[in-house]
Amino acid sequence: MTSTGTVHESVGGVYTVELDDGGRVEASLRGRLKQATREGSAAVIGDRVVLEQAAGAWTIESVEPRRTVLVRKGRGGRTAKVLAANLDHAFAVVAARDPDVAPDLVDRLLVLVESAGMKPILIVNKSDLAGDAPDVDALAALYRGLDYEVLRLSAATGEGLDALRDRCAGSTAALIGPSGVGKSSILNALEPGLGLRVGELSRKTSAGRHTTVGGRLIRLARGGLVADTPGFGDVGLWDVPLEDVGRCFPEIDELAAACRFRSCTHLHEPDCAVRAAVESGEVARSRYESYAAIYEDARET
Ligand code: GDP
Ligand code: ZN
Repeated sequence: MTSTGTVHESVGGVYTVELDDGGRVEASLRGRLKQATREGSAAVIGDRVVLEQAAGAWTIESVEPRRTVLVRKGRGGRTAKVLAANLDHAFAVVAARDPDVAPDLVDRLLVLVESAGMKPILIVNKSDLAGDAPDVDALAALYRGLDYEVLRLSAATGEGLDALRDRCAGSTAALIGPSGVGKSSILNALEPGLGLRVGELSRKTSAGRHTTVGGRLIRLARGGLVADTPGFGDVGLWDVPLEDVGRCFPEIDELAAACRFRSCTHLHEPDCAVRAAVESGEVARSRYESYAAIYEDARET
């Protein structure tokens, strides 16, 4: 019997799949797909798969083409590791304080999400620690002005949680951001009873009991799925292709057509409309500096 479904959890070679016609089954991978696992990942959470059932055992026969992929560098930095497939959007999470919010980090997260083909939504967590601090207000205003949705949140007081639940309903999403900004705390606050460990590195570095923790999709009571994947956070482990960098800064992408050279990198060429806009204040200097830093990084890899 053949069925189709979505991978909701993967731990040590066992895949929990929710079947389209109802039910949750545990499946293993067909042998020829295991080769792909060694090279990258044959099946990850969010994947649409075709399964066979024989003698009571379920096997994943094939993985359908992915709409979006969240990829990070694997161990050693050379190979790519797909963390999740077919997500609709990703929340880029930073903290208002502890650690203080930094525009270059925000830009890096937004670019990572955009280059993965998803729509980023910025979450500024720990707003209870910042109150109406002008730097946090200015940051929110900057990104709203660029048409990014910004949610101010506190996993501690519950501020903004309802807005986040609304945003999650009817879609599959992930939280990405550095360790310590409160991603586990937000998931726990969203779904009381989840009981994710907070402030512990072991879960995040997947150095625990399981050898391969592939993560899982958490179903929210009010609808929607959120990925809980160890190691999402480590921004240093992500790559952005050089050709994507400009495109991921909407205001720079828009001005590029007015540069003298079509291939302008906006770093040193004459008659650059982007640098002119930075001088006139039309483009925020912090955004331009992030662009230049991310571009240089991408050129080195
Ligand atoms: P993660 O590494 O991103 O998953 O962050 P954690 O959820 O483990 O949280 C890191 C630390 O920040 C923990 O000590 C949490 O209790 C604390 N924390 C998380 N969210 C908030 C918040 O909204 N307000 C305050 N004051 N502390 C928070
Ligand atoms: Zn230019």
